[in-house]
Amino acid sequence: MAANVRTSLVVLNDLFSNEVTYGPVQQHSFMNWLCEIRIKGQPFSGSGSTAQEAKCSAAEKALNFYYQTLIGAPVSSGTVAASVLAKFMSVAKPNDLLRVIMSHKVVAGIVRIDDYKPREHQVICISSGNKCIALDRLSVGGDAIYDCHAEVLARRCFQRYLLQQLVKFARGTPSIYESEPNGRSYVRVQQRYKFHMYINKEPCGDADLGQSIAHPNSAHGGKLRAKLDAGEGVHPTEFVNATQGGRLRTMSCSDKILRWNVLGLQGAMLTHYIRPVYLESLHLGILNLNVFHIQRALVGRLDGFQAAPPFCTKSLSIQEAIPSNVLSGGSPSVDISMNWCTGDTDDVEIVNANTGKIHETLWPTSSRSSQTVSRLSKKELCRSFLNLLSLRVPASGLTHRAATAATYDDIKRQSVQYQTTSRSLTDFFAARGMGVWIKKDKVVDRFPLNGL
Ligand SMILES: [Zn+2]
Repeated sequence: MAANVRTSLVVLNDLFSNEVTYGPVQQHSFMNWLCEIRIKGQPFSGSGSTAQEAKCSAAEKALNFYYQTLIGAPVSSGTVAASVLAKFMSVAKPNDLLRVIMSHKVVAGIVRIDDYKPREHQVICISSGNKCIALDRLSVGGDAIYDCHAEVLARRCFQRYLLQQLVKFARGTPSIYESEPNGRSYVRVQQRYKFHMYINKEPCGDADLGQSIAHPNSAHGGKLRAKLDAGEGVHPTEFVNATQGGRLRTMSCSDKILRWNVLGLQGAMLTHYIRPVYLESLHLGILNLNVFHIQRALVGRLDGFQAAPPFCTKSLSIQEAIPSNVLSGGSPSVDISMNWCTGDTDDVEIVNANTGKIHETLWPTSSRSSQTVSRLSKKELCRSFLNLLSLRVPASGLTHRAATAATYDDIKRQSVQYQTTSRSLTDFFAARGMGVWIKKDKVVDRFPLNGL
């Protein structure tokens, strides 16, 4: 019996423990058994060469029915949300991850739409998770992921995609990039390609707070907020630092998305090569979404900020998407996080959100490799960056030799335009009374690139 069939029965019992009833298993002929399962009164029948196989077959049919509920709409509807959810199911199902993903509370994905082929949506990445690592797990080698919230990991996956495409560009093969036409050596994403994000709920922080509390006229309205390790909830960042009280604080997803609308998704390191890459739209899987409230939190809080070129203040479009009632019903905070990136075959990776490394039980290294560091870790991104430097010198002039003598923090600091705009934004937030932008101690990023 296939492992995923056995799992179906377990998952079904977990999901519908009080609502599932098993009918009698009957022998229809010498080698054919029949079984009926009812969920909320709806029958699903299965058959097999043994009683157990018949039972599992019925369970599989029931689960398939509820996968369709999860997707919630025909994929042909061509929406960003439908594309992400359909891909999510297709990569998770063969990997026997049903029980894992059903318990996930937050799922995010990024879709590329080509202006020349607007009906074709390419899903770039998918991720899930809603937890950060504890302070004692903080690593100085770049090998642990601190923030496993789904939208943050989707951005990491996207950076991986941008790097993969840059390697193609450097080798002269088709990619999303083109050279800047003014003769400088910067590279930019061709205008025909647009990127859109889906999240099945509001990002944590200002967008996720009650409208009365988050309103600009409220005492707490529009404040920057940080999430605490190993728990839920966000707190204003005024008067605290990243590690105060023995708890690790990381900026909320609402605040991070707000910042991406100025600095782009590519991060400081890739700004050595490419012009900023922005999200065009954010699709939230919430019924009766208050677009005005979300727009205020993720875009409106930048009103009055002037970004110096090549950066700008992107007006992210907020859109209501398909609600996913199964995904949003999970436990408050899950220890596991999954990610999938296009270009990495069709394999998913499972990360333990407590350690920020590969989940050794759910994703045993013995069956794959001895690698415990996630492909989304800073260490792995730096390794890909070094590989790229060996192929092409970026516009900043940073050479492979200089990079191997530097630390990750040095590489980021040398991205001068990025750092200048980042500081201006932090000053703007402070001047508006929104609070401080919490940063981890720089020591965590002072790991050498040599030897990666
Ligand atoms: Zn979050």
